[in-house]
Amino acid sequence: MTDELREACGVFGIVGRPDAAALTAEALFALQHRGQESAGIAVLDEGAIRLHKGMGLVHEVFQVEDVTRLPGTSAIGHVRYSTTGASRPENAQPLYVRAHLGPFALAHNGNLVDALAARDRLEREGAIFQTTTDTEVVAHLMARSRSGSLEEAFQDALSQLSGGYAFAVLTPNGVLGARDPFGIRPLVLGELHGMPCLASETCALTAVGADYLREVEPGEVVQLDVHGGIQVLTPGDPSREKLCAFELIYFARPDSRSAGESIYQARRRLGQQLAREAPAPADVVLGVPDSSLPAAEGYAAELLLPQELGLVKNRYVGRTFINPGQHSRESGVQRKLTVVAEVVRGRRVALIDDSLVRGTTMRHLTRLLRDAGAIEVHVRIASPRYLHPCHYGIDTSNRDELIAVAAGEDHLRQLIGADSLKFLSAQGVLRATGRPDHCLACFTGEYPVPVGDSDEI
Ligand code: SF4
Repeated sequence: MTDELREACGVFGIVGRPDAAALTAEALFALQHRGQESAGIAVLDEGAIRLHKGMGLVHEVFQVEDVTRLPGTSAIGHVRYSTTGASRPENAQPLYVRAHLGPFALAHNGNLVDALAARDRLEREGAIFQTTTDTEVVAHLMARSRSGSLEEAFQDALSQLSGGYAFAVLTPNGVLGARDPFGIRPLVLGELHGMPCLASETCALTAVGADYLREVEPGEVVQLDVHGGIQVLTPGDPSREKLCAFELIYFARPDSRSAGESIYQARRRLGQQLAREAPAPADVVLGVPDSSLPAAEGYAAELLLPQELGLVKNRYVGRTFINPGQHSRESGVQRKLTVVAEVVRGRRVALIDDSLVRGTTMRHLTRLLRDAGAIEVHVRIASPRYLHPCHYGIDTSNRDELIAVAAGEDHLRQLIGADSLKFLSAQGVLRATGRPDHCLACFTGEYPVPVGDSDEI
């Protein structure tokens, strides 16, 4: 992906393991792509909850001694990229609360569209917020619930809110997991030597050696109890599923699986479908590394074209030491992506990206390819035009920033400097993923959950 489109968070939870904190740290490493701003782990140790969290990547927040200072047999973990609430230490998760029903810790992926109204109401009733996250709204609703247990209080809180979300909640009885009624954000169940765990993606299960059991169903609330059982507290409804299409297009790791389906293979099929809908008059196919390479592979295979390594990504880009006045904006792109001139010189290039959101980077990329000798650059996007902001936990800022909104397709082609530009259709996404339905709201404007008062907190 040439534009920065960022996932909100990743969560993990496990019960009944003496090494719960260490396993959770391993899982968070595997989920690091879902959030790089902060990381945290909460453990349950003889009825008490201990917490370690901080700003930065997992390896920056957790040294070995930090994990060994977290004894306990059940744990939840979280990596965060902020979509609501600023990037600051108090907003790092899990959030720890001591309520009259007992202590609990919350880890949340996604976005609650009515959190602002709920927060206003809670503040009028005297609640004092410590963070600016929508997650704390759930914490306050649980703490104020008149239910008889934390499990009921959690279900009570969720019944008052809507959005796209997945939760892992640590209580003295184990770990609660929940997915929004449309299953917009993902959550899967696994098992490690007879003990259950849950995670945003299966790559985290693989990282700790757990077997995949099943998806948490849309609207389902489960409890992983400390004896190894999985209780369904609120049954889900799989027929309502509208998993975020961007999980398959871009967010999830290619080695993860979704509903038993390989993400890598789904992306390859997106590329094949794109080739059927929009074949390019090209000599060579390049994918924008790394996320677009499976789609480029599928595109090239379908058209019997060679896919070659024409773009190389520098994984170790830090801050620039060159005076900003001395170099162009393009050099920022050039530091991240460089062109293998021998691959593109004198050839017509089909450049495959998984999405086009703000478009600025793509403009620089087409220029780099031409400078390296490409005679034509045909840009193909393995998803539809991104026209509407996401309200369910993906950072796309506001509508004005979306380049595809401002321009018709030909104007957009000129803006990014391509000889031709084509997008995959929304129907093509469904055809390629083989699912009856997905959330496609950022492409179609049809939001599965109404977003009337979804102002950011
Ligand atoms: S609006 Fe787009 S990014 Fe947001 S959940 Fe739906 S498909 Fe995913």
